[in-house]
Amino acid sequence: MATDYCSIPSTAHQDPELVSRKSKSENTIVSVNGIPIGGKEVIIMAGPCAVEKEEQLVQTARIVRAGGAAILRGGAYKPRTSPYSFQGLGLEGLQMLERAKKETGLSVVTEVMDTRQVEVVAKYADILQVGSRNMQNYPLLKEVGQYPKPILLKRGMMATIDEYLNAAEYVMAHGNPSVILCERGIRTFESSTRFTLDLNAIPLLKERTHLPVIVDPSHGTGIRTLVSPMARAAVAAGADGLLMEVHYRPEEALCDGSQSLYPDDFGLLVEDLRKVAEAIGRSIFKLKK
Ligand code: PEP
Ligand code: MN
Repeated sequence: MATDYCSIPSTAHQDPELVSRKSKSENTIVSVNGIPIGGKEVIIMAGPCAVEKEEQLVQTARIVRAGGAAILRGGAYKPRTSPYSFQGLGLEGLQMLERAKKETGLSVVTEVMDTRQVEVVAKYADILQVGSRNMQNYPLLKEVGQYPKPILLKRGMMATIDEYLNAAEYVMAHGNPSVILCERGIRTFESSTRFTLDLNAIPLLKERTHLPVIVDPSHGTGIRTLVSPMARAAVAAGADGLLMEVHYRPEEALCDGSQSLYPDDFGLLVEDLRKVAEAIGRSIFKLKK
């Protein structure tokens, strides 16, 4: 047979077994304290980039809870480009997340950067986040694969979809079936935005895997005014949830203030997201009072 040199990407992928839609046709629903991620409802995860202090975290948590979030985000261990930037509060930050959770009823997602942190982060978090820079940290993927906690695995900023699915396979192959994928933007030639949010990835991943797919439009754009439009686009394209940075006072943020939504923006956005979700036969998950 003649070789096909056509440049249209082939759809005949051999995806790894455990993540593949071919081996499990129905959607995986990752349940976090009764919050079904990957079902008909769209889940909102929001909060500051980093846990900075008690007041900042608790006030922001209250704001996102009132605005319609079900899960609080906030990093205690931060992967920063410069070693001189704020690195996160570590254990103290995890303890603040625990108090904010008690105060608001929100579940917590927070990043684990290192195999040595998995045990302590798992003690405080409801979902362990593996960040973009660690998507191919295989020892870390193997370690979190052995924990009975859902994993939010971000797409590496330079990772292909094939590499991404293989990273998720690592977690599943080590015993953890509860993996949530998160498109967060990839590196391209474009330098006007922080990253290029790959909206293609949403329907493509939904075709190729049964795992839930959420989107982070905050890191995906790096620009506050672009976050809401791309959040709406992500829901329209079939995302099962959103992970977004919101800060009670973005200008005072120690990390990513310029991409953090103001409290009012967040409330208005969730109202819009309800309409977008409804237009495609879905709804936004609401926590019970
Ligand atoms: C984050 O969500 O806090 C974060 C650091 O994101 P990413 O790993 O996608 O850069
Ligand atoms: Mn951030």
